[in-house]
Amino acid sequence: MPRQAPRFRPPGWKPKEPWAKPPHQADNRKRGRAGQRDRATVLREEPLCRRCLERGLTAASVEVDHIVPLARGGGDERSNKQGLCKACHDAKSAEERAAGRYGPR
Ligand SMILES: [Zn+2]
Repeated sequence: MPRQAPRFRPPGWKPKEPWAKPPHQADNRKRGRAGQRDRATVLREEPLCRRCLERGLTAASVEVDHIVPLARGGGDERSNKQGLCKACHDAKSAEERAAGRYGPR
């Protein structure tokens, strides 16, 4: 059973930029194996959450965070990544969402 209704396009129709990434992939995030390898490396190098360490706490880092978010032009290289615990990552993401909504980008 088809999951999507067929899209009818006029004869001769072509996508404007067939080489462009689809909008949900329009960032510079590494995907697939390359992305998984990078995540594993960051978590191995930073077993403790950076934000918690700054506050004198000790929590295992379980998530890899982009220090400058990809959506703000941050790169997907090692220097822009840090290991965070789930609570810190959620808090940072919430801050970034709020800043995106109400502040300058
Ligand atoms: Zn933390």
